[in-house]
Amino acid sequence: MKNVYQSQHPLVKHKLTKLRDHSTKPKKFRELIREIAMLLAYEATADLALDEAQVETPMGVASGAVLLEKIGLVPILRAGLGMVDGVWEMMPSAEVWHIGLYRDETDLKPVQYYSKHSADGQTTLCMLLDPMLATGGSAVAACDILKQWGVTRIKFLGLIAAPEGIAALQAAHPDVDVHIAAIDDRLNDVGYIVPGLGDAGDRLFGTV
Ligand code: URA
Repeated sequence: MKNVYQSQHPLVKHKLTKLRDHSTKPKKFRELIREIAMLLAYEATADLALDEAQVETPMGVASGAVLLEKIGLVPILRAGLGMVDGVWEMMPSAEVWHIGLYRDETDLKPVQYYSKHSADGQTTLCMLLDPMLATGGSAVAACDILKQWGVTRIKFLGLIAAPEGIAALQAAHPDVDVHIAAIDDRLNDVGYIVPGLGDAGDRLFGTV
């Protein structure tokens, strides 16, 4: 699949297996999501633009590089919040924007209830964070919103995708790269990924 990058990293596979386990408690679940998000961010940022730079070491001058990009991290509330800390640690000068969407339980369509972003037009790349790419409705709506805000380059980072979610996101936004830890079998009739990991938001925040 074009633009879809499924991590093959052993640490990602190991941690994702622990994450899926129904007996994993919220504290451990939060740690694992943070760590997997960090590893996915490492892989997803391999093509970031650099500028040459020199740095004075205690022993002389070394040639180096500095990041040219201004990055926005955009968690889709609420489960996307679990991915912010790990990614932000890797790129502390990134801004964090927010898009609040919930799935209407009758038609599973995304409903926007909150948003906050910078409007300086300087951001060159947004990394959209949501652990579960299920129907793709929220990811498509979030990309629509980012593009309305003037963002031209978007990467989606998620933990588990359903084939239906990837197809929907690619159909609506073929320019968006999808970085994912695993692609599962299917969606069930209420829009959950099977085998997935259940409700990521509930498992992160300890709600039932
Ligand atoms: N959201 C979740 O948290 N889990 C799913 O399986 C699908 C959507």
